[in-house]
Amino acid sequence: MKLKALKGFKDILPGEVELWQELEEFARVLFAQYNFAEIRVPLLEETALFSRAIGDLTDIVEKEMYTFTDKKQTLRPEGTASVIRAVVENGLLVKKPVQRLFTIGPMFRHERPQKGRLRQFHQLDVEVLGSESALVDVELMSLAALFFKELGINVSLEINSLGCKKCRPSYRDALLTFITEHKEKLCGDCQRRSETNPLRVLDCKVPSCREHIADAPSVQDWLCDECSSHFSLVQKGLQELNIDFSLNKFMVRGLDYYCRTTFEFLTKDLGAQAAVAAGGRYDGLVELLGGAKDTPGIGFAMGMERIILLLLQKDEFALDKGVDFFLAGLGKAAEEKVFTLAWQLRQEGFSVALDYEGRSLKAQMKLADRENAHFAVIVGEEELAGGYGVLRSMKDRDAEQRKIPLTLDAFLELTEELPEE
Ligand code: ATP
Ligand code: MG
Repeated sequence: MKLKALKGFKDILPGEVELWQELEEFARVLFAQYNFAEIRVPLLEETALFSRAIGDLTDIVEKEMYTFTDKKQTLRPEGTASVIRAVVENGLLVKKPVQRLFTIGPMFRHERPQKGRLRQFHQLDVEVLGSESALVDVELMSLAALFFKELGINVSLEINSLGCKKCRPSYRDALLTFITEHKEKLCGDCQRRSETNPLRVLDCKVPSCREHIADAPSVQDWLCDECSSHFSLVQKGLQELNIDFSLNKFMVRGLDYYCRTTFEFLTKDLGAQAAVAAGGRYDGLVELLGGAKDTPGIGFAMGMERIILLLLQKDEFALDKGVDFFLAGLGKAAEEKVFTLAWQLRQEGFSVALDYEGRSLKAQMKLADRENAHFAVIVGEEELAGGYGVLRSMKDRDAEQRKIPLTLDAFLELTEELPEE
């Protein structure tokens, strides 16, 4: 029997994993600049957490969740609900009234795998709980904008406001009236949605539906005074920071918990999977999950697979960093010598590879290439007797070989010739 990973589940192999590490490291530094603290939450939660937070009538809860039905437990399809559960359960908002948190890790959704769409995928997830200020909305979008700018990824930002408990019902009615008039022309899913969750019709991907709802009323025209001024402040704040954006009245997002500001960062370089980051405000959610009344919140998540694909399209990301030294010992005694030397070099922070099988010089040089070594150090019987090795640059084939004493000091002197970490 041939064993294979499940469809939509992917190994991240050496060679690519370095890029993931770099991305995570980069994100951690940026998140720290914005004063976010890391939180790690479990992968498995009670099903009720997600069905309540995300909404029973969303695609995620209706068809994408991995649920152990006998145990009523679900692999998390997103991070926000778990982060809020953890914050409420541990009373974090009592200790500090505004919580600025990020979490990094895998999410699980049973959808059709495609390029940039997996069943286990990874998100960088950022949440601010306890502030209603439009400045926080702007700040989060500025964080994402800076993130993509520094990585050299081209994105466009689209924003919308979904209003609040007060103004959304009247918008919903207006939308429903419009949809009902056009109902027979819409797809089966939308006909069903129009009865259960009409806002969902706005983000139907079927081209004919999009055409028929092009003139649907805009939620932005139905905002109450508070929501309208909040939305103006968000736009003003973005303009102040020179962050380009456009308004998208159709952006309702796939989770029921959003209110007021929603936003997406989109790329043109990944075909159908255009969204690289998405989020919005969820002012009622903390309370819904058992936290204090009227606790506001906002957050967004970035899809790491999609970001990695975009980084891989650029050539400046050399994936395999390789090792500083490949130590080639020829003959038993030299092998032992380089084995000890490897131990000393590694204690000094150098990366080292070597051969353990007594291979020929030619075979070992081939290995040094495969390990992408910067230098090879060859130690045969003659060199061993003289207490030196032959230093060969594996990167600059025209460079002359030179002798190097087999002492730590001699190797430390090479530090400047090695690529930086
Ligand atoms: P999409 O419209 O692409 O399905 P979504 O609205 O379902 O996205 P969110 O729940 O907002 O996505 O998740 C935030 C980000 O996570 C997305 O913008 C995307 O980059 C990424 N993402 C979502 N689902 C997947 C998936 N199945 N595989 C890989 N990345 C994903
Ligand atoms: Mg989705």
